[in-house]
Amino acid sequence: VIRYDAVVVGGGPAGSSCARDLVRAGAAVLVLDRAVFPRDKCCAGWITPHVVAALDLDLAAYGRGHVVQPITGFATSVVGGREIATTYDRPISHAIRRCEFDHYLLDRSGAQLRLGAPVRHLERTGTGWVVDGEIETPVLIGAGGHFCPVARTLHPARDAGPVVAAQECEVRMTRSQAERCAIDPELPALYFCPDRRGYGWCVRKGDFLNVGFGRLADGEFPRHVAAFLAFLHRERKVPPDLPAKWPGHAYRLYAQKSRAFVADGVLLVGDAAGLAHPISGEGILTAVESGRLAARALLQANGGSARDALAPYAAMLEARYGKPAAPFRDRWLPPGLVSWLGQRLMAMPWFVRRVLLERWFLHVDLPRLELAGSHVG
Ligand SMILES: Cc1cc2nc3c(=O)[nH]c(=O)nc-3n(C[C@H](O)[C@H](O)[C@H](O)COP(=O)(O)OP(=O)(O)OC[C@H]3O[C@@H](n4cnc5c(N)ncnc54)[C@H](O)[C@@H]3O)c2cc1C
Repeated sequence: VIRYDAVVVGGGPAGSSCARDLVRAGAAVLVLDRAVFPRDKCCAGWITPHVVAALDLDLAAYGRGHVVQPITGFATSVVGGREIATTYDRPISHAIRRCEFDHYLLDRSGAQLRLGAPVRHLERTGTGWVVDGEIETPVLIGAGGHFCPVARTLHPARDAGPVVAAQECEVRMTRSQAERCAIDPELPALYFCPDRRGYGWCVRKGDFLNVGFGRLADGEFPRHVAAFLAFLHRERKVPPDLPAKWPGHAYRLYAQKSRAFVADGVLLVGDAAGLAHPISGEGILTAVESGRLAARALLQANGGSARDALAPYAAMLEARYGKPAAPFRDRWLPPGLVSWLGQRLMAMPWFVRRVLLERWFLHVDLPRLELAGSHVG
């Protein structure tokens, strides 16, 4: 049996961010992931300045050898409606490729890695956990995304709460495909569903094009994806020869019926905790920040791993993201009115700029995350 101070299950942005802070504090940390990195991750790869700050990422240095696409605005519309281009005089976000990004972050964490085998068996002992019969630790960090085995140990039943289903493809375009692609590299396009339950996107990243669609899960998802793709082709937004089959994934939004984040010897972070933004669906920021907050809570627990010792982590999440609440659209307005109102608002440039983009997607009013007395970013 090999012993570690903490074992992180999942090497995505949540797991690597948590592992990095623990390693920097002197802990012996092992990260386990079923995949061998670099691995693909279904994701548009849009990162806001908050993500860059929370990661202490030097984008210029990262950009030497990795794809980094500056974004200076967005083209937004309700699918089939008039597009509004909202532009800025500087980059307001960036697009990265997750296969590169996650590999870089995991490598940078300095943790010991065991990649290429899924975690199968978690056993609770008097002093902590034994993973797959051979790794012992007082604390497990559940960072395995939506299907995280640690989260499933805590929440064996399918718990309620909104889940987003999403599908996408990312392709390297040939020169002729790039010439036929109507999307401006600095101005990704967002196409919102009329009923406000999801949106599609086209994001260019250097030579690559990422096209996808995400929506609050219901039985109609495949129909919506097909309709969105037909719309893109009809309007000649994307090259005609995109792959027909898109990989898909699901993840949980931070909302009313969220999961418990803490248990005896367990902290859940990122998608494993269900922390994605309830309106935009972005999950990279909350993955990185929750990873760092979990590390902080664990360090402050000073060797304690009982639920009570780790409970401050849940309080930190609530202080950062507010109490989990039902998304606005689900609260009390009739769906027809929400749809009508949404279409009117989406045609108003001030609403798109100030509310949709700056407030809901860029989170300009979210303060910097403070960690251990110092600002992050
Ligand atoms: C189509 C799509 C587009 C998206 N676009 C964006 C976007 O543009 N911007 C944004 O902010 N968010 C986006 N998101 C959300 C974002 O991708 C996630 O919220 C984010 O990746 C969560 O990070 P994580 O580290 O928690 O989990 P993940 O990145 O999913 O990492 C989890 C890791 O756990 C590993 N794992 C799983 N099971 C096991 C096991 N049994 N044993 C060992 N390892 C295991 C996996 O291999 C994986 O490496 C998108 C999501 C989807 C589906």
